[in-house]
Amino acid sequence: MKVIFHERFYEVYTHDPAAAPGRMEAMVKALENEFEFVEPTPASDRDIERVHGRQHLQSVKEDGLIYKVGRLAAGGAILAGELACQGQPAFGLIRPPGHHASPHSCWGFCYFNNVAVAVKKLLSAGKIKSALILDFDLHFGDGTANTFAGSQEVTYVHPSGGHRAPYLKDLQGRLESEKTCDLIAVSAGFDRHEDDWGGLLKTEDYNAIGQWAKEFSFRLCQGRRFGVLEGGYNHAVLGINVKTFLQGFSD
Ligand SMILES: [Zn+2]
Repeated sequence: MKVIFHERFYEVYTHDPAAAPGRMEAMVKALENEFEFVEPTPASDRDIERVHGRQHLQSVKEDGLIYKVGRLAAGGAILAGELACQGQPAFGLIRPPGHHASPHSCWGFCYFNNVAVAVKKLLSAGKIKSALILDFDLHFGDGTANTFAGSQEVTYVHPSGGHRAPYLKDLQGRLESEKTCDLIAVSAGFDRHEDDWGGLLKTEDYNAIGQWAKEFSFRLCQGRRFGVLEGGYNHAVLGINVKTFLQGFSD
C-alpha cells in the first residue's frame, strides 16, 4: 500500500476546515512509519478538463495558490489510480478534497474532483472499462454524482443512514450486489466518525469498510483499488481513522 503525499499539502491555502493547519500533520504522523510515501506530480489542464469545463478551470486559476495545490491533489489521485492499475493499491493523502466539485461549479471546500479526474483518465487511456466509486464521507458527493450522471461506465455509491448498523449494512450490501467492475475507487471521508461532524461510526468500522472494499476488488477487479481523502475534521481522531481504514484496505 503506497500513500501519495506532497509537502505542499501542508500549505494552508484558504480558511476552511479542510485546509486547516495541523490536519495533514495529524495523518502523516499516524501513517509515516507504516506505509511507503510517494510524491505526485501536478495534473495537467488536459487531465482536469476531462471532468471540468474551461470556465471552471479558469475561475480556479484566479487563485494561484489554490490552483497549484489543487492540481497537485488531482495529480495525487491520478497517481493512486495508475498504481492501482499496476496491481499496487494506493491512497491519496491529498487536499483540497474533491467530491463537491462538479463539471462547472464547486463548493464545500472542493475545487477539482480528484477521484473523477483519476477515473476519467484511466477510462480514456483504456486501462479500465468500468469503475465503482464508493464514497463514505458524511456528505453526498454531488460533484462526483453530477460528473458521472447517466454514465454506463461509472457507478457512484454513497450509502446513507442515520444509524450505525443499518448504514454499514447498506454499504456492504451495495458492494455485494455489483456483478462486474474493473476498479474500485474510494472517496474516503472521515467526518461520519462519532467524534467528528456526523457522530456515527466507530474507528473499527473504517477497518471493516476497508476490508469490504478490498474484498470487492478481489472478487471483481483483480485487486485494482485506490482511495483518496475527502473530509474529516477532528484532528484528534483523523490519524487513527485513516490508518485503521488503510489497514483494512491494504493486502
Ligand atoms: Zn464531508
